[in-house]
Amino acid sequence: MSKLKIAIQKSGRLSEKSLELLKDCGIKISTSNRKLRTESPNFPIEVLFLRDDDIPQYVEQGVADIGILGENEVWEKDKNVAQIRQLGFAGCKLCLAIPKDEIYTDLSYFQDKKIATSYPRILGKFFQEKGINVKIEEIGGSVEIAPSIGLANAIFDIVSTGSTLLTNGLKQVETVVESQAVLISNKNLDAEKQAIVDRLLFRIEAVKQSSENKYILLNAPNEKLEEIIALLPGMKSPTVLPLAEKGWSSIHTVIKEDTFWDIIEQLKALGAEGILVLEIEKMIL
Ligand code: ATP
Ligand code: MG
Repeated sequence: MSKLKIAIQKSGRLSEKSLELLKDCGIKISTSNRKLRTESPNFPIEVLFLRDDDIPQYVEQGVADIGILGENEVWEKDKNVAQIRQLGFAGCKLCLAIPKDEIYTDLSYFQDKKIATSYPRILGKFFQEKGINVKIEEIGGSVEIAPSIGLANAIFDIVSTGSTLLTNGLKQVETVVESQAVLISNKNLDAEKQAIVDRLLFRIEAVKQSSENKYILLNAPNEKLEEIIALLPGMKSPTVLPLAEKGWSSIHTVIKEDTFWDIIEQLKALGAEGILVLEIEKMIL
């Protein structure tokens, strides 16, 4: 039986979370020895550890079948690969920054300016669409020092907290795109490999759903049951069980993490008691 080859970052900001995702999907990966490829003992997958820059090309060529990397690298490399699912980690923004004493009005500030970046393609496309002419200076790293050494007037780079900008006398003036980790795939997988991708995606879905949802249990007075149930969306409808104490019921359901606090407050106001909120390990819809 063939194995699916998945490329993940060897070492860097994506490595740990990529391995964690596979682990949460029940896929065992041994990372003890510093091997650059390893097979899972319990899932038909082989992991290749690579530099993130190389992943789009390898997936396009079929050296790897699928890969995990930042959308920013996928857009910049612009290879012929399929983007199959955002993964919700390694979030970051690609921003334009200028020396902090400069007065900034709008994008026209950048007309005929020189901008240093490691993402020339994304930046070039952005300004082309805006009809603004800029000079792009491509550099591999340490982009933030470019203005202070006279290499460029501005920079375009990944910003997470902005503290690196500040220490280099820069300020962020525009966010061009937001990026997160994504799963990409070769466009010509055979049926057998596609079936393994589908199995993997099914598991990823269950892991992601579980992290976005909570299991909630509460006790409610029977006269308020209807109102309380109306507040709880749930997967289907909530489970309602009678309590030993007369006139009370126990309600069990699943709610979205982001609506959680709102709902809890309303439930309490309606007389709900003994509210328990539990983590869900896996969730299959
Ligand atoms: P490699 O050696 O594999 O080429 P790298 O130095 O290019 O690694 P990292 O710095 O490990 O890459 O970042 C990998 C990805 O993590 C980025 O491309 C981006 O998608 C994401 N990321 C999230 N937050 C940040 C951040 N604060 N700075 C840089 N990258 C970030
Ligand atoms: Mg890289």
